[in-house]
Amino acid sequence: MNLEAALGLIGEVPDFPEPGVLFRDLSPLFADGDGFATVVNALAETVDPDVELLAAVEARGFMLAAAVGYARGLGVVLVRKPGKLPAVAGRIDYALEYGTAALELPSGVTHPGARVAVVDDVLATGGTVAAACSLLDQAGAVVTGISVVLELAALDGRATLRDRKVHSLLTS
Ligand code: IMP
Repeated sequence: MNLEAALGLIGEVPDFPEPGVLFRDLSPLFADGDGFATVVNALAETVDPDVELLAAVEARGFMLAAAVGYARGLGVVLVRKPGKLPAVAGRIDYALEYGTAALELPSGVTHPGARVAVVDDVLATGGTVAAACSLLDQAGAVVTGISVVLELAALDGRATLRDRKVHSLLTS
């Protein structure tokens, strides 16, 4: 399957999770073996050659990063919601459109100077990925870039991520 056809498997669900929001549903893409492999291979190509490690935020980011990591021979750092990790290197609280959220970085999985790429499914406002990048920054890692399947241009996540390098397979 070519990349355009694979990305065409992404569905659109109006008024989810609340009225007025058009939710992009990657479930049909993930459920299609050819489509998933095509997207994973394309995402793997966006990761710079000198990257040593991938990082991802739960839950869909884990799925993509695991597959990209396997394709590229790279390990994955699981950035998690609070209360999931037995040993925490750092925590960051960040603002959502309504309310706040927090993420934690496990201890002992990265080192100062490590070159890390962040993988996620959708870049919307950029808040989630920006928080993951900040956690990696605090740990002394070097975030080389961010790779996502879909970027929602209207929400301008790139502005939130400022000068970080963003690779998206599809901009909508
Ligand atoms: P952000 O922090 O606003 O950039 O939101 C990005 C996070 O929310 C990602 O981890 C996505 O998994 C999720 N997300 C936001 N919008 C969508 C969507 O339309 N479809 C699927 N996931 C989304």
